[in-house]
Amino acid sequence: MAIAFIDLAAQRRRLGPKVDTAILAVLDSGAFIMGPDVRAFEAELAAFGQAKHALSCANGTDALYLPLMAWEIGPGDAVFCPSFTFASTAEVIAWSGATPVFVDIDRETYALDPASLQAAIDQVLAHGQLKPRAVIAVDLFGQPVDYPAIKAICVVHGLKLIADSAQGFGCTLQGLQPLHWADVTTTSFYPAKPLGCYGDGGAVLCQDDDLAEAMDSYRVHGKATAADLKAHVFEHEAKYLNMRVGLNSRLDTVQAAVLRAKLEIFADEIEARNSIAARYNAKLAPYVSRVPAVIAGGISTWAQYTIEHPNRDGLAAHLKAKGVPTAVYYPLPLHRQPAFLAPNPAVVASGSLPATDAAALDVISLPMHPYLTEADQDAVIAAVASFAA
Ligand SMILES: *Cc1c(COP(=O)(O)O)cnc(C)c1O
Repeated sequence: MAIAFIDLAAQRRRLGPKVDTAILAVLDSGAFIMGPDVRAFEAELAAFGQAKHALSCANGTDALYLPLMAWEIGPGDAVFCPSFTFASTAEVIAWSGATPVFVDIDRETYALDPASLQAAIDQVLAHGQLKPRAVIAVDLFGQPVDYPAIKAICVVHGLKLIADSAQGFGCTLQGLQPLHWADVTTTSFYPAKPLGCYGDGGAVLCQDDDLAEAMDSYRVHGKATAADLKAHVFEHEAKYLNMRVGLNSRLDTVQAAVLRAKLEIFADEIEARNSIAARYNAKLAPYVSRVPAVIAGGISTWAQYTIEHPNRDGLAAHLKAKGVPTAVYYPLPLHRQPAFLAPNPAVVASGSLPATDAAALDVISLPMHPYLTEADQDAVIAAVASFAA
């Protein structure tokens, strides 16, 4: 049988009839949007994420946008983020009217580089046009960024910190989740993410009551919050008093039912991914220029297992011929994407991002999922080894 890049069917077999039964129960209930399973899932997700609040929403992109809306970040503001990431990370900054400021990565871990972040903040302050407001750090490929160092910089400059954990939800550093440092953690339930549903979905987690209340309002068309209603005489439902210009960003009950079943086995799946990554690392190191290095004290969720090779495209073609699927995340960094060039150029820290550009040339991701058998791992390893030989 062909090797799968990500094998959702194997996971479905493990879950057995549980998911099917849960979906049928939602169909019978008729509560298709924000039904009881959504509330239950949010409570379970908050517990898993060591958070006081978990708010589900329509996708991982909206999850990033909600805190920017709640903090009223907009034109004239600078939001710092990596360029070596998925489009969403910077897209939401542009939506808000603020300016994305692209920061370089650590060449070893692909995570936001604290020194480049500091340089970018200094550059924005020296230029005097934009006001630094927030940082979006990305747990790329599942691995936690250097949160203590990033947080220390945010504290000095009064910046909010968002952990974009779309790939890394469930990762830890020194046994703690990113939310220990970040004001907000966001995630995506896109099917291929480590914790995925059977469609689109997302969530935002935080500890702050007022922030949670504001984001809850923004996700449903800026509906009145309890505090808003105290200050207004309104005799109808709170959702028909619109205090803010918001979004329609809700999670379907069917997706919450799927996610409740998947969350039960998620910790176990993260462990399986880590065993596979350790085995890959040990056996692939002689044949590639770089195997992944996780930050000291960090546990990755291994959304991707990404190696580097100086002849990346040659290796991809060789592996394809051997029946091994691969993918390149990401071939074109965001600071080189047409969307972020003229007429509305983003700011690029120090004018160029050498580590980002170097990584984009050489990275290639190999099959990775919790149900990858040792036989399949060995086939992948042998295929990589035969290219080197
Ligand atoms: C997938 C992803 C997102 C967006 O999630 P969607 O649910 O597809 O909107 C945001 N950031 C990163 C780093 C991602 O990988």
